[in-house]
Amino acid sequence: MSVDPNTPVLRNCIRLPLPEDELIEVTAKAKDYAIMHGAAMRSKSNFSEDSLNFAPFVLVPSSFPRKEFEKAVALQPIINRLMHNVAHDEEFITTTLAETIKVDEFTANLFNIYRKVLAHGFTQRTSLGMLRSDLMLESGCPELSPKALLWRGEAGEDGEATAAAAAAAGTGSGGGVGVGVCGGKAKSRARAKTMEEEEDEATVKRNVQLSRATVSGVSTATVASKDRKAAAYCCWKQVEINTIASGFGHLGPASKTVQSFVLRELGHADKLPNMPHNNALAGLCDGMVKAWDIYAKPQSVILFIIEDVSYNICDQRFHEFYIRENYPHIKVLRRTLTEVHREGKLGLNKELLLSGGLEVAVIYFRAGYEPGHYHSQDEWDARYLMETSLAIKCPSIQYHLAGTKKVQQALAQPAVLERFINDPEEMKAVGKIFTGLYSLDDNEAGNATYEMALRTPEKFVLKPQREGGGNNVYGVDIPDALKRMSRVERSAWILMDLIHPPLTKGYMVRPGAEMPPTIVDMVSELGIFGVVIGDADQIIHNYQAGHMLRTKLSTANEGGVAAGLGALDSPYLIDSDDEDEN
Ligand code: ADP
Ligand code: MG
Repeated sequence: MSVDPNTPVLRNCIRLPLPEDELIEVTAKAKDYAIMHGAAMRSKSNFSEDSLNFAPFVLVPSSFPRKEFEKAVALQPIINRLMHNVAHDEEFITTTLAETIKVDEFTANLFNIYRKVLAHGFTQRTSLGMLRSDLMLESGCPELSPKALLWRGEAGEDGEATAAAAAAAGTGSGGGVGVGVCGGKAKSRARAKTMEEEEDEATVKRNVQLSRATVSGVSTATVASKDRKAAAYCCWKQVEINTIASGFGHLGPASKTVQSFVLRELGHADKLPNMPHNNALAGLCDGMVKAWDIYAKPQSVILFIIEDVSYNICDQRFHEFYIRENYPHIKVLRRTLTEVHREGKLGLNKELLLSGGLEVAVIYFRAGYEPGHYHSQDEWDARYLMETSLAIKCPSIQYHLAGTKKVQQALAQPAVLERFINDPEEMKAVGKIFTGLYSLDDNEAGNATYEMALRTPEKFVLKPQREGGGNNVYGVDIPDALKRMSRVERSAWILMDLIHPPLTKGYMVRPGAEMPPTIVDMVSELGIFGVVIGDADQIIHNYQAGHMLRTKLSTANEGGVAAGLGALDSPYLIDSDDEDEN
């Protein structure tokens, strides 16, 4: 993916580059520290159950605007409630997915389980939702102040602020930057400037002090910090909401541990208070234990459903170890879907029983979200068996379906949101987080989306109903992909405005990569965890539960860490009135 040269750059937590000697020493230490603190994974290229590699990580934490971080944290319980209500709205789920399941076999299989469960009645009415709402800052936001826009232009080739001034005036092409709906108000860039904006712009032009700095071969433009800070303070947009296998409950906090160590080693312990506390592991595991308490059988166990091979092993075992250390009376088991098919059966009261008569209270799915996890009908039968059992599922089938991209697209329409959120303020706040999401169903609206995607593909990402990364189609690849589909097949997909996050610059450390690392342009994606427990009538627990930050090269489309493109990171919170890095 190409990056707009006008993309703003967030200021760094500390001044980079580091002197080479110091960089080599601290990176070597940090790699060992990462392995020894579980910021690690199994190697895909050289797999062994007996060893771990450190997970790719960003050496020092990436900046993130404090105000936007706090907004995301505060919003999570509202998003939890929204998703809980959506999951329990049978009519909404059924109509929203009606077209999709005609052509998407995987979603249809999930939906069939849902249909059968509905027909027989839910054996277990309580669901455990462990959600993760993923978001990116949007630098192409139309509410971005003229100051920020000016700064966007300053990184341009000519060192002048003209491109940005043009953008602020609404005449810049923006390099194909799509303007999402921000603050609920979609504004066109092609609008007249207000007098206030013109004044602001003139002031900023006067204040701009461009100085070219070369950082490890990367040429950047820097400006007086007073002006460039504004660029960071835009809105953020939701990338997706995960309702199944929301990972990084351990790796999120572990990233903070590693980066805190690095900052201390580099003599920047004073920066640590700007790294927010992250209780993701405890928050999620306590959620499982609360569900276990609701099940209320002292001998019952918590079951993790796992892939045949778990590369991301630390992010599962640490959950298990946390539960065993803090609640030693609760046993944790791990089984694949295939093993559940072989071993599992229902008791007299539809209890899920594993061999030896072990009764399962809570099922935590870390697999089952992609077709490859179901090798045959056996695995689907196992999923159905669990679904009809008395065990509390994370997620239950209705929660799984509520997390599909199609449902996210439907929710982004204001009239739909009204159905699930009563409070007008809450509705406004949630409405703001959606960027443009468009149906590709076989109808008039879907056809209009199709035409729009063919006209300006660079503004969009095309998404199927899949999880786990690597399934989306980006920008210029979209027309070919769409043209290969029939009109009906398109309804398995949705179209979404591409979000344009600001850049950060830093060192990405990867197993097997050259030492010392070089400074690269990166973008980050913040995930906020939420736990919600309840049934169709009431919510018993609802809280925000920590966060995770994943960072990828700015040129990469996707940033899955397990997929090898992203790196562990954690937010370093910055304020608009901060002094420049030192
Ligand atoms: P998955 O369920 O496979 O994780 P996502 O919707 O999260 O699918 O997309 C995968 C990745 O693609 C995201 O983590 C993000 O890096 C990138 N991505 C997805 N949607 C957008 C978007 N609208 N704008 C920019 N990047 C996106
Ligand atoms: Mg994702």
